[in-house]
Amino acid sequence: MDFKKNPKLAAMQLYEQAMWASDNAYAPYSKFKVGAALLAASGEVYSGVNVENSSYGATICAERTAFVKALSEGERKFIAIAVYAQETEAIPCGICRQFMYEFAPDIKVITGVSDADLNIRSLDELLPIGFRLEGEK
Ligand code: ZN
Repeated sequence: MDFKKNPKLAAMQLYEQAMWASDNAYAPYSKFKVGAALLAASGEVYSGVNVENSSYGATICAERTAFVKALSEGERKFIAIAVYAQETEAIPCGICRQFMYEFAPDIKVITGVSDADLNIRSLDELLPIGFRLEGEK
C-alpha cells in the first residue's frame, strides 16, 4: 500500500480494512460499531475497533485501539488512518484527535460513507492548534 504514489487507491484499501475490522467492535450499548485501519510508515496496517464498557468512561475508540496496538509493537511513524462506521461518516472525536497528534500531527485521516466517496483530511486540519509537550520521543 503506497500512500504517496496512489493516495486514492491506498485510501480505499485502508477504508475497506477499517470496514472489515468494524465487525469485531464491542458495542453492546450504543450498537455503533466503528473500525479503524492505521497505516504505519513501516508498511504494516493495524486495525482497531471501539470497545465499550459498562463504565462508559472506560470506553475506547477504534482509532486509539489501532494506535495502541501499533505503538505496543514499536511503531512510531504513521502515514494514514481510515475510520469506518455503518451508514455514516465517522469523524474522530476530540480525544482521538489529540491522541493521534502526539504521534502524527500530519497523518491523513480517511473518512466517508462509502469507499467510492472518501474524504482525506490532514489531522492538523481537524485539530488546527494541537499541542505536544517537549520531551524525548
Ligand atoms: Zn475517539
